[in-house]
Amino acid sequence: MLRVAVVGSGPSGVYTAQSLVQQNEVPGVRVDVLDRLPCPYGLVRYGVAPDHEKIKSLQGALRTVLEHDRIGFVGNVEVGGPELPPGRLLELYHAVVYCVGAAKDRRLGVPGEDLAGSHSATEFVSWYSAHPDTAAEGFALGARSAVVVGAGNVAVDVTRILARGADELLPTDMPQSALGALALSQVRDVHMVARRGPSQGKFTTKELRELGSLPDAEVIVDAAELALDPAFQDPSGLPAVNRRNVEALRNWAAQPPRGGARRIHLRFYLRPVELLGAVGRVTGVRFEHTMPDGLGGVTGTGTYEEIEAQLVLRSVGYRGVPIPGLPFDPAHGTVPNAAGRVLRGGVPSPGEYVAGWIKRGPTGVIGTNRPCAKETVTSLIADAELLGGRQIAAEPLEVLRDSGLRPVQWPGWLAIEDAEAALGRSLGRRSVKIGDWPGLLTAAGVPEESPSAAPHS
Ligand code: NAP
Repeated sequence: MLRVAVVGSGPSGVYTAQSLVQQNEVPGVRVDVLDRLPCPYGLVRYGVAPDHEKIKSLQGALRTVLEHDRIGFVGNVEVGGPELPPGRLLELYHAVVYCVGAAKDRRLGVPGEDLAGSHSATEFVSWYSAHPDTAAEGFALGARSAVVVGAGNVAVDVTRILARGADELLPTDMPQSALGALALSQVRDVHMVARRGPSQGKFTTKELRELGSLPDAEVIVDAAELALDPAFQDPSGLPAVNRRNVEALRNWAAQPPRGGARRIHLRFYLRPVELLGAVGRVTGVRFEHTMPDGLGGVTGTGTYEEIEAQLVLRSVGYRGVPIPGLPFDPAHGTVPNAAGRVLRGGVPSPGEYVAGWIKRGPTGVIGTNRPCAKETVTSLIADAELLGGRQIAAEPLEVLRDSGLRPVQWPGWLAIEDAEAALGRSLGRRSVKIGDWPGLLTAAGVPEESPSAAPHS
C-alpha cells in the first residue's frame, strides 16, 4: 500500500495520478490529487481559451482519471501555507508529487511596465477564464488600440479574444461579466509584436492561421518586414512548424486589404524599450527596431518606433513560483530535480517529486506533460519499497480538516458544475463559469465562514 499526494490537478498532476495507478508494480497505490482551487483541471480550465472547445474537451479525459476508484480529488487545500507546509504533507503521505505549474508571468523589465492599462497576458487570460483570484470587472476595454508583446501561443490567444466578436463567444463558458465587456469593446487595432523575426515565432501554425479565420477581423502583415528575415528567402532549413508559419505569413502579406471591424497587425523585429504614459495611464509602447545578429538572436538598430496603445498585454512567458519549504531555482523558475526527484542540497529528498512546468519550465503543449509525468512516476516507483516503510497518518483528510482546512472533494466539484449549468440556463447560455471564491465555495457546500476561504475572499 502506497499513499501518494499529487499537488495540482492540471494536466501534469492528472497524468501523474493516472500513470501511478496504471503501474502494476504497486498494486495498492492510492492517490489524492490536491488543488488550491475548489475546481480541478488547472490551466485546461483557467488557461485554455474558451473558444478552443476541442482542447477544452480534454477535461472529459481528465475527469475520467479523477473518477478512478483509487484516485481522489481534494480541492480548496493550499500546500505551502501555514496550515500545510511541505514537511507536514510528507507526514500524511508516503510520497508527494508537486505539479503546480508556473503560475506567474515573466516581466519585461522596461520603464512604464506598471502604468494603468498595462497588464500581463496571464491577468487577461485569468479574467476571461473566471479565475476566482481575478476581479470580474478587471478589463473595461475602452481602448481603441492594443499592443500584445510577444509571439507565443498565449500572445495569439489574447490577440484572438480581443479581435473576436462577443457574439462568437456566446456559446462558450466565458463568464458573463467578461462577455459583456467584450461586447462593449472599442478595440479596433491589435498589434502583436515580436522582437525577433517571422521564422522565429514561438506560436504553432494552427493557432497562427486561426487569426485569419475570424469573421470580422483582418490580418495585416508587412512584406518588407518579413523580407528582413534571412530564413524567409529560403525557409527550407527551418523546422516544419516554422516553415508553415512563414507560409501563412507570406500569404497574408500578399493579400489585398479586405476590411473588417478589427485589424490584427503582426509585427516583427521590434523590441519594447518603454511603455509610454500620460497621467499614469499607458498611451503607447516605444520599440527599438532590431535586426538579425546572425546567431539566431537580434541586435538593436538604434532606430525607434512608437505604437499607440491604451491597452498593453505583456505575453512573454510564464515563470514558476516558489512554494515555501520546497527548494527553488530562481534562475529557471523550477524546483531542482533529477528525473523528477526533488533535490535538496543536490541530494534527492526521500518522498518528494515534481512533474510538469515546475519540473522542466513553461514549455511544450499539454501532451508534453504525459512523458514528463511518466518519467517522474518511474523514479517514484523505483523508490517505492523505501517510501512504503515510512510511517504516515492513517487518515490524511481528517488531519487536513483538523488543521482548519475545508477540502472540497469530488461531490463538491460536481455541485459546482451543476451550479454553473444552472447559471448558464438562467442566462440563456450553456454552462457559465462562476468566478468568485464565495460563489464557488457556496456551490460546493463549504460554509462561507470556513477558515480556508478567508485568505482568498
Ligand atoms: P512562449 O511560447 O515561451 O513565448 C514567449 C514569447 O515572448 C516569445 O515570442 C519570446 O520571444 C517573447 N519574449 C520573451 N521575453 C521577451 C522580452 N523581454 N521582450 C519581448 N518579447 C519577449 O510563452 P507563452 O506564449 O506564454 O506559452 C507558454 C507555453 O504554453 C508554450 O509552450 C505554448 O505553446 C503553450 N500554449 C499552448 C497553447 C495552444 O497549444 N493552443 C495556448 C497557449 C499556450 P523570443 O522567442 O525572442 O524569446
